[in-house]
Amino acid sequence: MGSILIVAEIQKGALREATFELVAFARKLADANGSEVKSLVVGSGVADLAGTLASKGGGEVFVADDAALANYNVDGYTKAIRAAVEAAGADLVLMSNTPTGWDVAPRVAAGLDAAFVSDCFDIQAEGGGLVFLRRVFNGKLDARLTASEGRVVATMQPGATSAYEGSGDGKTSELKVDLSGLRAKFVETKVAESKGVDLTKADIIVSGGRGVGDPEKFPEVIQPLAEALGGAMGASRPVVDAGWLPHEYQVGSSGQVVSPKLYIAVGISGAIQHLVGMKTSNFIVAINKDPDAPIFEVADVGVVGDLFEIVPALTSAVKAAKGG
Ligand SMILES: Cc1cc2nc3c(=O)[nH]c(=O)nc-3n(C[C@H](O)[C@H](O)[C@H](O)COP(=O)(O)OP(=O)(O)OC[C@H]3O[C@@H](n4cnc5c(N)ncnc54)[C@H](O)[C@@H]3O)c2cc1C
Repeated sequence: MGSILIVAEIQKGALREATFELVAFARKLADANGSEVKSLVVGSGVADLAGTLASKGGGEVFVADDAALANYNVDGYTKAIRAAVEAAGADLVLMSNTPTGWDVAPRVAAGLDAAFVSDCFDIQAEGGGLVFLRRVFNGKLDARLTASEGRVVATMQPGATSAYEGSGDGKTSELKVDLSGLRAKFVETKVAESKGVDLTKADIIVSGGRGVGDPEKFPEVIQPLAEALGGAMGASRPVVDAGWLPHEYQVGSSGQVVSPKLYIAVGISGAIQHLVGMKTSNFIVAINKDPDAPIFEVADVGVVGDLFEIVPALTSAVKAAKGG
């Protein structure tokens, strides 16, 4: 096996959490099949970020540092990634399944004549090869894909695994990239208005579903428990469809895929489209008055009862335990 190349992503001047999730996937595979982990950081003035990645498991980190790469540019990124693939001798290229990944990963794969698999939630080393897992038919089935030969470019769902927390002593290497003749030109970045909720970064999420019944009960019942635990509030799709909370709160196949340390599902039945967004959480607590609700099948702890009795009592108990 050759090497695995991680393509880092930078957001607001820092490496995205999803990059360290790629490190976790790459390290898992490297432990299984002996391949080497290498990374690429693209941007302008990004040497420090490359050093950070090298010290946190990214292995040898190639740095494509150029003023022309200060803002995302699909031509420039494609050239940089292809150059890094050659320099690293990479058989597998991992990118995050983010808007940048959607845009650049297929171009990189096409240019390298490599296989491409998108939106994976896991990769497993099996029988000397790799198996890529992705959900299909709205999460009802897991597809297992293998490449018969050659290089593979894969994008991984943010939040599908925990970020790598180990350290490393990788070095950084300057990568020369021919950036002449870029056809794409950066014009401006427009950031969508956001209430600042990024559930993929929360360690604890308390999500409310249709069982909460009333938009006013979210700030009264769900939010206080999330706050007492130092976590974030999430929701199922009917809550968002009804306009009770904005879309960024939605967990599930058409919302965010999360993997927090603790996920508390309140008044959520556990439809497959919700489960695909949270079932890899480390510890799941479900509160539902229906003992047959499917959410209990994925829960580590299930509480059968009325959420309006249980959640306020739980919130008080958390506050008392924290001395508040
Ligand atoms: C293409 C597609 C994409 C979708 N994407 C998503 C997605 O991203 N995320 C998502 O969540 N859904 C998604 N859905 C919708 C999904 O199929 C379900 O309809 C949805 O998840 C149900 O939400 P819910 O559990 O909040 O509501 P319900 O299924 O109505 O469940 C409400 C639950 O609350 C319980 N309850 C009621 N009152 C109380 C009480 N007082 N105390 C305790 N429990 C109570 C009930 O017993 C019930 O189990 C999608 C569907 C489609 C077709």
